[in-house]
Amino acid sequence: MIQDASTPVSASTEQVVAELLKRPAFVMVSHVKPDGDTLGAGLALGLALKKLGKRVHYFQQDPVPRNLRFMADTRYVSRDVPADLPADTLWVFGDMSSTSRAGEFLPKIDRKNILDIDHHLGNEHFGELNYVLTHECSTGTCVMHLLRGLGVEIDADIATCLLTTIMTDTGGFMHSNTTPDVLTLSAELMRLGANKEEITQEIFANKRLAALKLLGRALDESKVEYDGRYIWSYVDDAMLTACKADGEDTEEIVNHLRSVEGIEVAALFKHFDGEIRVSLRSSGRVNVQAAAARLGGGGHFRASGLTFVGPLQDAVVAVDRALAAEGL
Ligand code: 5GP
Ligand code: MN
Repeated sequence: MIQDASTPVSASTEQVVAELLKRPAFVMVSHVKPDGDTLGAGLALGLALKKLGKRVHYFQQDPVPRNLRFMADTRYVSRDVPADLPADTLWVFGDMSSTSRAGEFLPKIDRKNILDIDHHLGNEHFGELNYVLTHECSTGTCVMHLLRGLGVEIDADIATCLLTTIMTDTGGFMHSNTTPDVLTLSAELMRLGANKEEITQEIFANKRLAALKLLGRALDESKVEYDGRYIWSYVDDAMLTACKADGEDTEEIVNHLRSVEGIEVAALFKHFDGEIRVSLRSSGRVNVQAAAARLGGGGHFRASGLTFVGPLQDAVVAVDRALAAEGL
């Protein structure tokens, strides 16, 4: 891969493996509003490190989403950190550009105790070691390289976590990051016992009626602009109450908006408790990571997000301008 001066170099697999072997204890950190990648990657590495006799904890500010509870060790995921952690505990951040994505409950951690594992373009290289492989489809496949380096056996539980990361971030093998290598890795994980059926059911097939009702409301409220290339909508507290839905039920809405024929960018404004979380999706022409970055957010070329403080109409205008600046 060609590196220019502005692209920080990732640590090598050997460096990271050596560091993992050195440390006695670990806290795997996943981001707020966890998805199958951040959580699955942390669980997979945690399960593997336990096999090596290491002490492992899992920090996540938000509860484990209902549809991710099928993965092993999710019952140990918590926002509380034990008081008796050794001073040289390694905190392993998975799938996030900066520590702030772990939430405000995260204790203060010395940089020398941080390992940053990620596949996002805008990763800030905030750790002592940064294992940032931007060509990987998921943080989980970065972890898979580390497991091979560690020589740990990938059992069925670990394989299920890893396949969950891949299926989450490729949208069930539908996004453009689904390369032949990704399919080969996935086949390998299935041979190792990954439960693809369960992942499909839990993440893609089972839908709550409340979520579908909320989707209906969001579709009703949607506006199409830019000659049919841009669609946006919103959900708010009143809509949640009316549909008996909760925050988890909002996750898929923006992807449905994006699937509308002719749409190049979709935006969903989630207005809850006085704060607006914006999810952006692109069909591939407009860089929504760059658009989100203009407003303090980030993510990927085709999927990004940001937080906006202010009234909904201001958020709509700000996002419109950011997208226009990126060529919508
Ligand atoms: P979602 O719309 O599902 O919340 O987020 C889509 C993508 O954008 C995810 O890859 C997520 O990591 C990233 N993302 C969402 N919100 C933020 C944010 O506030 N800051 C950054 N840096 N990335 C975000
Ligand atoms: Mn990811």
